[in-house]
Amino acid sequence: MFKALVLDQVDGKTQAEIRELDESVLPEGEVLVDVAYSSLNYKDGLAVTGKGKIISSFPAIPGIDFVGRVASSADARFAAGDEVVLTGWGVGERHWGGMAEKARVKADWLVPLPDGMSGRTAMLIGTAGLTAMLCVMALEQGGVTPEQGPVLVTGASGGVGSVAVALLAKKGFDVVAATGRTSEEGYLRKLGAKEIRSRDEMAAPPRPLEKQLWAGVVDTVGGTVLARALAETHYSGTVAACGLAGSHELPVTVMPFILRNVRLQGVDSVNCPTPVRQQAWQNLLSDLDLDLLGDVGQEISLDEVPDYAERILRGEVRGRTLIKL
Ligand code: NDP
Repeated sequence: MFKALVLDQVDGKTQAEIRELDESVLPEGEVLVDVAYSSLNYKDGLAVTGKGKIISSFPAIPGIDFVGRVASSADARFAAGDEVVLTGWGVGERHWGGMAEKARVKADWLVPLPDGMSGRTAMLIGTAGLTAMLCVMALEQGGVTPEQGPVLVTGASGGVGSVAVALLAKKGFDVVAATGRTSEEGYLRKLGAKEIRSRDEMAAPPRPLEKQLWAGVVDTVGGTVLARALAETHYSGTVAACGLAGSHELPVTVMPFILRNVRLQGVDSVNCPTPVRQQAWQNLLSDLDLDLLGDVGQEISLDEVPDYAERILRGEVRGRTLIKL
């Protein structure tokens, strides 16, 4: 038997409850994992509260990422005792996820923990941190360098935003952090932000082209914030868009693209190919100041998840939230 957070639909509403389950009810997969930590991402907030259509069928175990040790494996790539991390691939959406003491998954979805990285650190990074790294890699692929000028990170005190600020600052960029929470200014400066910009200022609808401010942008917010970021990006700058914490819409004109050669690069971590993931995890090991993760992260238990799920959707959760199993 093992403990899990189970989501069910009651009268059309999602309810979350901790239950004891038998291993035999786990979905099919080649690898059984003893989960050590999962984490709470924005998408998990949508799933647990039922405010977003994330879960494809009920009952279900949420948790789009987890880290743990292989208990048994029918795939030659993994053996009992191996430490593994999983993010994305529809786990915690179409397949039961990480908010349980055990998970059974496809071997293809697992990444061996990079040498020198603890499981706890890997989950402090989690889907959000991996996505932040994929955004940074997108800026680098776009040719953005610190000499070209400041970079902007929106939704900066969130999970993706916090890690993006820390990564870009460590690489020598002048990072401007856009946030709706002025109370988090000290935190963002500790992560390496040089300047703070208010969310309200960013959310004002832009003209087709604004003054050129950013060599690159990591956007987790969407909507007018992303539209303004595009209108304020330098000639030949790159904007990496990964989120919709503000809106899924994009009220923009073509002007930044056709007059300033701006590149808008979408970033997806869910179906990101395995070699790119492995590279991103290696980059995180070398490029992220792991000491800062102590400031970025907090730890909760499984029974605190429903409360934190509401809070992450209200934009009240700072940085990353670990769930200890
Ligand atoms: P968090 O909730 O931790 O961070 C989101 C941040 O956005 C908040 O902390 C807040 O930052 C800001 N924000 C919240 N609400 C609003 C609003 N109404 N208007 C403007 N800003 C707002 O979430 P995550 O970091 O986990 O995820 C961020 C986004 O990225 C989400 O939309 C998520 O779905 C997406 N995502 C996408 C992935 C992909 O593969 N493409 C993977 C992971 C996440 P502040 O208080 O500083 O303003």
